[in-house]
Amino acid sequence: MIRFEQMRKSFGTHAVLRGIDAEVNRGEVVCLIGPSGSGKSTMLRCINGLEPYQGGRVMIGDTLVDASRPTIHDIRTRVSMVFQRFNLFPNRTALENVMEGPIYVLKEKPADVRERASALLRRVGLEEKMQAYPASLSGGQQQRVAIARALAMRPEAILFDEPTSALDPEMVGEVLSVMQGLAEEEDMTMLVVTHEIQFAREVASRVLFLDDGLIAEEGPARELLQHPKNERTQDFLRRVT
Ligand code: ATP
Ligand code: MG
Repeated sequence: MIRFEQMRKSFGTHAVLRGIDAEVNRGEVVCLIGPSGSGKSTMLRCINGLEPYQGGRVMIGDTLVDASRPTIHDIRTRVSMVFQRFNLFPNRTALENVMEGPIYVLKEKPADVRERASALLRRVGLEEKMQAYPASLSGGQQQRVAIARALAMRPEAILFDEPTSALDPEMVGEVLSVMQGLAEEEDMTMLVVTHEIQFAREVASRVLFLDDGLIAEEGPARELLQHPKNERTQDFLRRVT
């Protein structure tokens, strides 16, 4: 469903991604790990055209991701993104935040959207907080609103960029468990940048290790995390676990 073929991306003369080959199949959860600055966020941003790239290609199903083509709008509605910082609209309630995309981007009827948005907020455990503004929610609650907002677009896949790394430790679990639910109960296709190795081990089917602009190692989650073959993967895992 998401496929990189020899994809290259530079910022000026700085080659950040130097020939990425990778795939996320429908219904699969893949975790992307790697050192700071290795290009994980850049890789996600190239999937929905937030960043242009220079070589090779990125495909969503049969559609070529090309930030300069009109199809990019279509891609952005097919692939949602959840960021480290929740990026909610501060002057809208939790419910309004979730309703925004379907109404303004998908042009759906507010009455239909309201029902689905409420159901999604219930789904992430925020039934009581529908009318709350972001500032009155905890970090974990805000991130769960952000996940509901991503789901409201009925995406084919969700990209998560370190969704728990800005949270206080006691709130990490509630967000990971919502993500685990999506993976297991709804078969959502997910590409997750994370340092939560335990989550990767339990929820991901595969792990990609990005290092120095290349996928240095990839494999089934448990196998790669327990018995990494590449020395750089071994070093990295020693440092984060
Ligand atoms: P982290 O784990 O710290 O989030 P990352 O793996 O997500 O790191 P990226 O944010 O993708 O790394 O950055 C990869 C490289 O690209 C870094 O060297 C970064 O400085 C550079 N970079 C990222 N965005 C830009 C930009 N807009 N302009 C110039 N360089 C950039
Ligand atoms: Mg990053």
